[in-house]
Amino acid sequence: MKKNIFFTMIGLFLLLTTASAQNKKRIPTKGLAVFEEKGKFKPYEFSRHAVGDNDIQIEILYAGICHSDLHHVHAAWGKEEFPMVPGHELAGRVVKIGKNVTKFKVGDYAGIGCMVGSCRVCDACKQNHEQYCEHGAIMTYHGVDRYNDNEHTQGGYSKDYVVASDFAIKIPADAQIEKVAPLLCAGITSYSPIMYAGVKRGDKVGIAGFGGLGHMGVQYAVALGADVTVFDITEDKRQDAMRMGAKHYVNVNNPDDLKDLNNTFNFILSTIPTNYDMNMYLKMLKYDGQMAIVGLPPFAQMPTISLDKFIWQGNRKIFGSQIGGIKETQEMLDYSVKNNIYPEVVIIDAEGSLVDEAYKNIMDGKVKFRYVIDMKTLK
Ligand SMILES: [Zn+2]
Ligand SMILES: [Zn+2]
Repeated sequence: MKKNIFFTMIGLFLLLTTASAQNKKRIPTKGLAVFEEKGKFKPYEFSRHAVGDNDIQIEILYAGICHSDLHHVHAAWGKEEFPMVPGHELAGRVVKIGKNVTKFKVGDYAGIGCMVGSCRVCDACKQNHEQYCEHGAIMTYHGVDRYNDNEHTQGGYSKDYVVASDFAIKIPADAQIEKVAPLLCAGITSYSPIMYAGVKRGDKVGIAGFGGLGHMGVQYAVALGADVTVFDITEDKRQDAMRMGAKHYVNVNNPDDLKDLNNTFNFILSTIPTNYDMNMYLKMLKYDGQMAIVGLPPFAQMPTISLDKFIWQGNRKIFGSQIGGIKETQEMLDYSVKNNIYPEVVIIDAEGSLVDEAYKNIMDGKVKFRYVIDMKTLK
């Protein structure tokens, strides 16, 4: 009898340890990576940390290509680590949940934006601005996850992601899932400063740079009832701007278009990812006007503005803005789906050569407006 109890105990112990080992098992996955600065995309097998009690595992369906992915692959913002799987706009389906997770169930749509963790206790985190965490937010890729054994994070051009459920965004079941991914960076990055600036009906709003971010900014400003002017450097996008509800289009390379614009705008959103004349835009702000900077050019092409310009154009404000907190990202997503605001996307298969080609087209300004990779096609 005693012997039986002994063996039952041993059996139970083995069962429990195997179960807990299985729970702690890393998740094998694969994606598309570059293996050196400015490298080509190739298949890459790697693993992610196990699904912890508060985590979910997402099977990635779609991953957006953000202009900042190019900057990272090109190491335009400083040293990077390779291999690198970029991608911080991802939409997919929950395939596994940790035992404490109540926000999601298996089968739900879920998304991840630019960050996957933060300290949760500093003032910024407590005020739902995790992107400004005083200890540093953990980036979705090219980050170091201090809460998961200092794992080097890899992004969304991949099959699966494991993330703390409170850093995942709920995607409504009726969303156009193939278009959702870019909302999680391009969408929130333009939505947040528009809301912060308090843009309202009748305001004159300028959107400078009409690409992935800019075309989202136009849609949000139009939805709020603003009178929108789009600025870009090409004629090619004039019709697109009008179609999205802009009232005016300024080709910055056409001097006639730029006449009589000083002291015009309540708010300007600059999404420009390269060097430009900031003072030109500052002069276009009305008294008390505001300009938000969300486009971040490479360090070698960073625009500057001399202090005297601020004094001559006094009581206008320029502020920077970086994505949005998790709460605001959820608000943005719900607002976008409810108001049918989506990016215009070109969907490509998950093949290295197609991503290389997409990068080239983005560099050459040839995309309208966002590439999305269909991760289900990854071989
Ligand atoms: Zn981005
Ligand atoms: Zn924090």
